[in-house]
Amino acid sequence: MIALGIEGTAHSLGVGIVTKENGKCRVLSNVIKMHRPAEGGIHPREAANHHAEQAPLVLAEAVEKAGISLSEVDLVSFSQGPGLGPCLRTAATAARALAVSLGKPIIGVNHCVAHIEIGCGVTDCTDPILLYASGANTQIIAFTNGKYRVFGETLDIGIGNCLDKFARDHGIPFPGGPEIEKLARAGRKYLELPYSVKGMDLAFSGILSSAAQYIKRGETVEDVCYSIQETTFAMLTEVAERAMAHTEKNEILLGGGVACNARLQEMVNIMARERGAQAYVPPKPLCVDNGAMIGWMGIVMHEAGVRMSLAETTVNQRYRTDDVHVTWRSG
Ligand code: AMP
Ligand code: MG
Repeated sequence: MIALGIEGTAHSLGVGIVTKENGKCRVLSNVIKMHRPAEGGIHPREAANHHAEQAPLVLAEAVEKAGISLSEVDLVSFSQGPGLGPCLRTAATAARALAVSLGKPIIGVNHCVAHIEIGCGVTDCTDPILLYASGANTQIIAFTNGKYRVFGETLDIGIGNCLDKFARDHGIPFPGGPEIEKLARAGRKYLELPYSVKGMDLAFSGILSSAAQYIKRGETVEDVCYSIQETTFAMLTEVAERAMAHTEKNEILLGGGVACNARLQEMVNIMARERGAQAYVPPKPLCVDNGAMIGWMGIVMHEAGVRMSLAETTVNQRYRTDDVHVTWRSG
């Protein structure tokens, strides 16, 4: 089966074409186009316009790179939520048009769960805790008692948005995460920032205000970036470790764009090693928002017997991880 997945929950429009080989996901192509606002944050309607303009081009490029013809696609899947309404609707409309014109089934998938399943599809992990650290989302997710459950999450902004906002306010180009990572390598001094772990939940906006104060007081941007990384990543690692202890799982999977950060990977690796557990990171194009993970999620669900009518493909901006009706895992 060849599945074509369309991702469009936020700033990125992605089309990925995947198939299953020896029980694993084989990515035939995975094209991502990111909307980069000239200034300020993402405006949902502008991002949706970007997706609408790019959809035919990204689709054509993905098909060409996969070396297939569109008629060979057996299934169309798309991210049904959570995300920004106008963006979700644009991707869903593209998916419906494609599925109807090809006469092929369509499946709407949960974006957060797709980050877990692609990790299991391309690495050796089977039942991990997912540390999902992206622009808008920050969640610690695991499958227990028939559902993907959220063990901890941000109470305000996503970790990626925290990094991007700090960057934007201090003249560092978007996306801020990778730039902050480079600057942090030159940081030497740890400046104390609010370590906001509340039970199993996290908060990042206080860190932003404190970090801005340090800059005003003349601390170097390198030291502040270093301190932001050390603080926020320690918070993420702590909550992930407690979720592992609670669920007695011995695999941790990273997902989301912030998972590309070498320092976060290092902290999680150390934590896993000290517990006798194993950490997994998918390749970067499968960590960020991408169409391949949506295509793979489509295959996993279709194999489990999931079918959707067009009427069931309306988007859900607040599609919760624990609302997903899971028929493809047991336990
Ligand atoms: P996503 O929302 O999953 O597509 O990921 C996008 C987010 O990942 C943005 O907020 C980026 O700033 C962030 N990001 C990407 N690469 C890195 C990195 N190396 N370190 C930290 N954050 C990153
Ligand atoms: Mg994501």
